[in-house]
Amino acid sequence: MSTSLALLLGNRFASELPELALPWQAEEAPAPQVLALNEALAAELGLDPEALRGPDGLGLLTGTVLPTGATPVAQAYAGHQFGGYAPRLGDGRALLLGELTDGEGRLRDVHLKGSGRTPFARGGDGRAAVGPMLREYVMSEAMHGLGVPTTRSLAVLATGRDVQRETVLPGAVLTRVASSHLRVGTFQFAASTGDLALLRRLADHAIERHYPAAAAAEHPHRALLDAVATAQADLVAQWLLLGFVHGVMNTDNMTISGETIDYGPCAFMEAYEPATVFSSIDRGGRYAYGNQPLIAQWNLARLAETLLPLLAEDQDAAVAIAMEALSGFRQRHDATYAAGLPAKLGLPAGLDDEIASGLSEEWLKILHVNHVDWTSGFRTLGAAARGDAEPLRGLVLDLVAVDEWLARWQALDPDAALMDRTNPVYIPRNHLVEEALDAATAGDLAPFERLVDVVRHPYEERSGLERYATPAPDDFGHYVTYCGT
Ligand code: AMP
Ligand code: MG
Repeated sequence: MSTSLALLLGNRFASELPELALPWQAEEAPAPQVLALNEALAAELGLDPEALRGPDGLGLLTGTVLPTGATPVAQAYAGHQFGGYAPRLGDGRALLLGELTDGEGRLRDVHLKGSGRTPFARGGDGRAAVGPMLREYVMSEAMHGLGVPTTRSLAVLATGRDVQRETVLPGAVLTRVASSHLRVGTFQFAASTGDLALLRRLADHAIERHYPAAAAAEHPHRALLDAVATAQADLVAQWLLLGFVHGVMNTDNMTISGETIDYGPCAFMEAYEPATVFSSIDRGGRYAYGNQPLIAQWNLARLAETLLPLLAEDQDAAVAIAMEALSGFRQRHDATYAAGLPAKLGLPAGLDDEIASGLSEEWLKILHVNHVDWTSGFRTLGAAARGDAEPLRGLVLDLVAVDEWLARWQALDPDAALMDRTNPVYIPRNHLVEEALDAATAGDLAPFERLVDVVRHPYEERSGLERYATPAPDDFGHYVTYCGT
């Protein structure tokens, strides 16, 4: 491997938790080609983008040529999928290459998705198609730009191999970077082995990597549960404030770190509707926009169950501690959301709670009843704070209601600069994402590259980009996304 790529890939997960790590190799990629390379992230990781484009880089990013000492593993995990328990999921088409230390001294996982079948593949082919991998790339970059904790995308490479889905599609491998890939499902798997020492090792590994302060607490494992609950409470509140629907919040898709992971059937809501669902298989609306806090709490209950033997000697005492953590989740979530919404309305801090929540609720009702696009509704309200209410009025049918609301809101002297920092202009709108992925699948990467560039700076309005700030045309229809792509 060339000196510019002589990266030190550690194997902490594999060596500390061998019961959860199955050494495995990526499959050959017949004709690897870089489709997307995140140069800013490469720099953060101390990797030379030019070298990543060279032969060793292509080898690294497909998992086929690895630095000496690297021990790629498929990670074991379990998970509740749409409420049903699957005891053995694991990386069916993914590999953890190892961890590296970034420029700020943080440990980051380098992980491949689409790198071939592993013993966890069950009926799957172990592969991924170009479209869904570029989708994860653009969605995760958008989330990062929006300031939401997320896994990152370092690169997408075409493999040169076709994959069979409903049609034949070009295959790809995504290189994902995360602060770890520990999931609620990792704890479920460890707990199911009945090996308490393994569970304790996993919990201590999670504390060291994500919540070092918990190690000094009187009860480190209680502190771990509380810290995960806090991180997830804040994460889901941020999703709601941005109109994000994850779409497949199975326990194997919920991280211990509090980073958003697994951009499968996710999408940003346009017209405000709490029941919004995008996933083709989510018929009951389990993972609908407005249901996400409840589901996150349900998932945390599954995490808490696994931790019971570590929380207290006595089972009843352990259950009481777990229940407390779960109610702490709800309180924290509600508080973060209740602070975030008035900020999006530019309301001054310290405003009477009842006035703030009353105005917020009435605003949401206006958006809902009038089917206003979530993102443009808030952003045009920022323009109203600067004296131009016409763009907003153009989105609303019930002008009497909105004018009455605006008058009361204006009297509070809303902070337009705060609104510009909390209300994005650009999100990866579903019709634009589809357009970019269709073009990329057909060989034209230009629309994808433009979209990535736009969503990386979501709060900064730029002229010429109006198209990216506009909801889907009516003929785009109801948007549906698919899992297991
Ligand atoms: P996901 O829907 O991506 O969260 O994946 C759920 C589970 O299915 C994980 O265990 C994946 O590794 C596995 N999986 C998804 N797609 C494939 C595939 N094409 N081949 C093998 N395993 C897969
Ligand atoms: Mg997953």
